[in-house]
Amino acid sequence: MTPITNHMPTKELQALDAAHHMHPFTEANALEAAGARIITRANGVMLTDSEGNHILDGMSGLWCVNIGYGREELAQTALRQMRELPFYNTFFMTSHVPAIALSAKIAELAPGPLNHVFFAGSGSEANDTNIRLVRHYWAKKGKPSKSIIISRKNGYHGSTLGGGSLGGMTYMHNQGCPVIPDIHHIDQPHWYAEGGDMTPEEFGLARAQQLEAAILELGEDRVGAFIGEPIQGAGGVIIPPSTYWPEIQRICDKYEILLIADEVICGFGRTGQWFGSQTVGIRPDIMTIAKGLTSGYVPMGGSIVSDEIAQTIADDDFNHGYTYSGHPVAAAVALENLRIIQEEKLVERVREDVGPYLAEKWKTLAEHPMVGEARSLGLMGTLALTPHKESRAKFAGKEGAIGLRTRTRCFENGLVMRHVGDRMIIAPPLVISHAEIDRLVELAHKSIDEAYIAAKADGLMVPA
Ligand SMILES: *Cc1c(COP(=O)(O)O)cnc(C)c1O
Repeated sequence: MTPITNHMPTKELQALDAAHHMHPFTEANALEAAGARIITRANGVMLTDSEGNHILDGMSGLWCVNIGYGREELAQTALRQMRELPFYNTFFMTSHVPAIALSAKIAELAPGPLNHVFFAGSGSEANDTNIRLVRHYWAKKGKPSKSIIISRKNGYHGSTLGGGSLGGMTYMHNQGCPVIPDIHHIDQPHWYAEGGDMTPEEFGLARAQQLEAAILELGEDRVGAFIGEPIQGAGGVIIPPSTYWPEIQRICDKYEILLIADEVICGFGRTGQWFGSQTVGIRPDIMTIAKGLTSGYVPMGGSIVSDEIAQTIADDDFNHGYTYSGHPVAAAVALENLRIIQEEKLVERVREDVGPYLAEKWKTLAEHPMVGEARSLGLMGTLALTPHKESRAKFAGKEGAIGLRTRTRCFENGLVMRHVGDRMIIAPPLVISHAEIDRLVELAHKSIDEAYIAAKADGLMVPA
């Protein structure tokens, strides 16, 4: 079979791309001026672009390619399933084997009473489902007033109207996505940026107790759920202080508030457990899943729901669903992906081998004069760029400018490392080797150093 490859010069591809393709979270004029980097192939943890450059993918695509690129098993599974049954829906009292097998498998993997799966096409859709589920559940319990969902500033829950509203990204709310009613945001547990003189432990408790204060202020009879990512991803890989999640759990229990863990990034091994909830020690009533569920080979998301919620709404139609809920090809690919994660013991590998190995190497970056902290958990790494380490200062110039420069240096040096403001983050595939981790950290160090030298030369190493 001839490989699918670029059949045009890069410049022509870039011009067509800029003329017709609207990109997510991208300034079109900047894209047109610079030209998109066009990725043509990938294998393992390595990408190849249309110019033949090899790039180490420190972000698993968008946090999703957990088992790495080029897995023939997934391609074969998709082909087989497309031949056998490419589509059938799961509405109106019908089902099919891939959706049945996958929901049973997820129920087996998910902890405690999380035994029911509602499928969606993405993480955003799954969070939209969660809003409906929570409100429908409380209505069924005879408490329809408990419609408020509490979420966090700088949390990310997707980009649909529901997901974007749950999320705490004001730059999203400001563009045609006013927060839909009855969603309330509290502050995030981001000690490095917002902890001031408190210890991380004190700060974690204080931020969790904002949930209790919000419930008391809004009224116990009004609040139905709290949603959070066990570790914030898109917000900058914010690893909360150890005191945070136990206190959130205590408050949810005390006021009978449903706890939704958005596991879209943390799920399926990223933190060294099947789910981030297990790593941070919480017992959610609903989990949002997507990304690592299929390792990104095909789109799929879902909500894993507790027995209590599923049983409460069981005596009525749930008037909600997507054409592609439980899509047979996506479900078959997900099942094969989970089989690989389990058989190759990738979760244990993150917990006992590559996670600790990355932690050792990653923390050496904190020795660099422009790095204020360098932390990792499982295969998520984060570091803060700063002009002044001791005071954890921000840069005086535009927020994110140094982060963007650093990211550009990374790309030029053959590494995908993302920036969130002036934080740099990584989340490589779970199959990454020790040698590849060495390379990743070496390229990160080189790129940070180049950005640092340039920032100094340009007079940008100034605290705000
Ligand atoms: C990516 C992400 C989502 C949204 O998933 P999509 O598949 O992009 O809709 C939701 N929650 C979290 C935590 C995510 O990282």
